[in-house]
Amino acid sequence: MSKQQQHFCIVCNQEINPRLVMRSKNDNGDIMRCPHCRLTFVNPMPSEQAIQEYYNGLCRKESLEFDLQKQKWANTSLDGYIEELKRLKKWLRQDFLDLGGVLGYYAKEALTKGLKAILVDIDPISIEFSNKHQELPEVYQASIQEFSEISSDWIFLRHNIEHFKNPDNLLDTVYSLLSEGGVLTIETDNNAGAEILLHPKTMRFYQSLYSKKYEGSSPIDLLLKLPLAVDLLRHLFGFRADNLSQLLINDSFETVKTIHYCLGDSVYWPNIPNNTIYILIEKLTDFKIMSLLLEVVCLIIFPFRKMLNRLQMSSGLCIYATKKAT
Ligand SMILES: [Zn+2]
Repeated sequence: MSKQQQHFCIVCNQEINPRLVMRSKNDNGDIMRCPHCRLTFVNPMPSEQAIQEYYNGLCRKESLEFDLQKQKWANTSLDGYIEELKRLKKWLRQDFLDLGGVLGYYAKEALTKGLKAILVDIDPISIEFSNKHQELPEVYQASIQEFSEISSDWIFLRHNIEHFKNPDNLLDTVYSLLSEGGVLTIETDNNAGAEILLHPKTMRFYQSLYSKKYEGSSPIDLLLKLPLAVDLLRHLFGFRADNLSQLLINDSFETVKTIHYCLGDSVYWPNIPNNTIYILIEKLTDFKIMSLLLEVVCLIIFPFRKMLNRLQMSSGLCIYATKKAT
């Protein structure tokens, strides 16, 4: 497809002339953005075969051993989701369908909390890990779009939608799996988010990633262009609150609540914990001067990250949605 050619925007439901955000260095797919809704995406999309190869055994490293810390994080997270569902009067106490739930830590915690937990993932290594360590009664190795076994009153779609070539088809499937009166929690990286560039760890990760694959990827470029977190073959789309809400509405969902959150949020993004006074003291007593300085910088930057959260420019996005009332 020629780069100037029109493109169909799944949010705007019309042909658009996408704007170039970042040009690929190796012609593997540029990052483009809809000029109307600002949906950001890879163009052209990778082949199905390339995607399948990418996901086969993707979590091999993480599946080498059970991680107690991940289990604790999932436990705290699930408590937070349940609290929010109670506030929204959507706490139905029955099902937990974890679509693309990878190693099953969240599904296991849902099971522990008395829910009927079902895990679906395409990666055979992840499924093998779940069968060995999580003791879940129902685990399916399938792509979400192939899966049509049941209906559920809570569908958990955490950091998945950005991985799909056809997010609207994915949402059609999710709609068919969600029971009447059920709730979908859908999460993704926030493409409007600049906060991810204010955390040294994620800043280094993305700077290195974008400088390898795309032209014009200095920290200032990243701040001005905000490609985050689209990157081949991992993330094919980048959403922000308004275009993800509109896509949900297009697919007959109704959004109930939208939450923006920072890296280190104990419910929504626990795996990059915020630094604490305890960590500072630890670094000080260990005489790790460079890492101590880094922790101090993190602490100074922290209020700015919180400020970006208020401006809906933090790193993550969670929408609670139901089926549109008919
Ligand atoms: Zn659009």
